[in-house]
Amino acid sequence: MRSTRSIAVVGALALTLAAAACGGSGDDAGSVDGETNFAAGSTMLKLKESGRLRVGTKFDQPGFGLVQPNGKPEGFDVEIAKIIAERLGVPEDGIEFIETPSTIREEVLEQNRVDIVVATYTINDKRKQRVDFAGPYYIAGQTLMVKADNTDITGPDAFKDGTKKVCSVKNSTPATNIEKYLQDTAKQLVLFDEYQSCVNSLKSGKVDAVTTDNVILTGFVAASNDKYALAGTAFTEEPYGIGVKKGDKDFRNFINDSLEAAFDDGSYIRAWKISAGEYDGRDPRIPTVDRY
Ligand code: GLU
Repeated sequence: MRSTRSIAVVGALALTLAAAACGGSGDDAGSVDGETNFAAGSTMLKLKESGRLRVGTKFDQPGFGLVQPNGKPEGFDVEIAKIIAERLGVPEDGIEFIETPSTIREEVLEQNRVDIVVATYTINDKRKQRVDFAGPYYIAGQTLMVKADNTDITGPDAFKDGTKKVCSVKNSTPATNIEKYLQDTAKQLVLFDEYQSCVNSLKSGKVDAVTTDNVILTGFVAASNDKYALAGTAFTEEPYGIGVKKGDKDFRNFINDSLEAAFDDGSYIRAWKISAGEYDGRDPRIPTVDRY
């Protein structure tokens, strides 16, 4: 895998240099071993020259994007954004993190309020109608979180009884995926804008479980002092992508090149170890980017 990817990167580099020599644009991602050499008019050149990168991310998800007392978020998504900024030539203090809950991820890109969205953002065809995705850079899976003493819920089938309530967030894939296990969606599914509100509802007993991706729930479990636990195993696959404005293929290619370089040079695993890896000691399986 590693050597294949390296060859691909070298190949892409050769094409990039050839395109640059001809003044070409097209699929020219234009990144040369950390030194940036971007095509005129590209999003990459614009961002590099501005010295700023606006990143939509989560502010309430331990391990992926959790805001700190200094107002800045920390987590794996934050570290992934830093890797991209570095390859763009944008300094770390030029990154502006903008809180982006699940429900507004498409609109912040469409309205040009952010340059990229790195926010536990599952790639799927419905979303691709409005935005494009680089990646995936991580494969999560949906599961359930319950109070630690709950023994009734061991998987999504527990909701087929029509009585138990589950919480998720608006415009999230888990909210859609769980519906097929419910008898009465209006009664059994509680939706908020942010996962912290679901955790609060679990705490107060208004719902029996929270459902979303395993890595998000792992962060809440770790922060709970053993009050909550995961129930069952993952029952979906959630490939996380980096959202970009629809149609900007050069920028998407550049981010894909950046991810592959980070997979190869160890910066991806380092990013994991200092963030979500603190809750989940296993190194992630390195995904294959999808250059659709
Ligand atoms: N990965 C899922 C999604 O993109 C759930 C996590 C989230 O809401 O950010 O919908």
